[in-house]
Amino acid sequence: MNYQAASTRYNKMQYNRCGRSGLKLSAISLGLWHNFGSEDVFSNARDILLHAFDNGITHFDLANNYGPVPGSAEETFGKVLKQDMAAYRDELVVSTKAGYYMWEGPYGEWGSKKYLVSSLNQSLKRMGLDYVDIFYHHRPDPDTPLEETMAALDLIVRQGKALYVGLSNYSAEDTQKAESILRELGTPCLIHQPRYNMFDRWVEDGLLEVLDKRGIGGIPFSPLAQGLLTDRYLKEIPSDSRMAKAHFLKESALTEVKRNAIVALNEMASKRNQSLAQMAIAWLLSNKTVTSVLVGASSTKQLDNNLAALDNLSFTDVELKTINEICEP
Ligand code: NDP
Repeated sequence: MNYQAASTRYNKMQYNRCGRSGLKLSAISLGLWHNFGSEDVFSNARDILLHAFDNGITHFDLANNYGPVPGSAEETFGKVLKQDMAAYRDELVVSTKAGYYMWEGPYGEWGSKKYLVSSLNQSLKRMGLDYVDIFYHHRPDPDTPLEETMAALDLIVRQGKALYVGLSNYSAEDTQKAESILRELGTPCLIHQPRYNMFDRWVEDGLLEVLDKRGIGGIPFSPLAQGLLTDRYLKEIPSDSRMAKAHFLKESALTEVKRNAIVALNEMASKRNQSLAQMAIAWLLSNKTVTSVLVGASSTKQLDNNLAALDNLSFTDVELKTINEICEP
């Protein structure tokens, strides 16, 4: 069981500066939304985490509600951290978030100071940590004054419970407002985590420009559209896939138009000597506003496939145009 990190772990990975901060993130980060809960196989979760670190992934992304059951991904991560990775804490960037429903009553979700501070205290306990590196507000709260939510993030940093703060799922407009408040408070906004992949381009309509102008890093989640942008669904729906198992990726997402696009993209990736997953990751990393791509993986094999995206990150103008045409027919 004694884990010793690979001595080669920093040989291949690329580390990108996060916005205008001092922090660098691995170009590929690992998310624990799926496959790390108490209902998943612990040995597989551990293998993926250690394999990620052995291959230079330093950034691990969690949230209070990841599981299932909610909270259990943080417990799994805490267990692996304690038994295997404790000696490497200072080589890791650990992120968590609060914003979605976590517990009953008026203080268990959204963006009040009461909820955010309580939730982070719970997360730290589950992970066995004194502090996280990045704490995010997971989604905007239409009813809580933005000033209160941002003051809570600032407080958490001043308390030493997080080193940096970030926003997730905020619109371009709300990001600008939040960034200004945070800057005034003296706690800069480090990073923004939006959904962004070849199929989902909402961030191109203003948000990326805001991130660039304000010096905020960008870390797209669901870069593979939860598995659609891989070879997973080229033929049928595998019984061990997210689409077959979890309600987050519905069969209705795999329309005829989408399937045709996936087939066309897959052919294009083959011509580049890449898997579709690799091309989807490389495409995001070719955007200068993207600091790191936040992938999920259900096996070390998938993770290896994704890591090899770094072997070819460049695209010709013709390739970029073709991708746009395929994705927006
Ligand atoms: P992806 O789009 O990377 O999807 C991951 C899934 O794709 C895997 O579980 C696996 O599915 C499949 N897959 C991955 N690599 C390969 C491969 N090489 N070949 C074939 N299939 C592959 O990301 P997620 O949707 O998982 O999101 C990533 C992370 O982003 C989350 O873990 C979380 O940390 C964060 N996130 C944040 C959100 C937010 O609101 N801030 C929301 C959602 C995610 P299968 O299980 O079928 O094998």
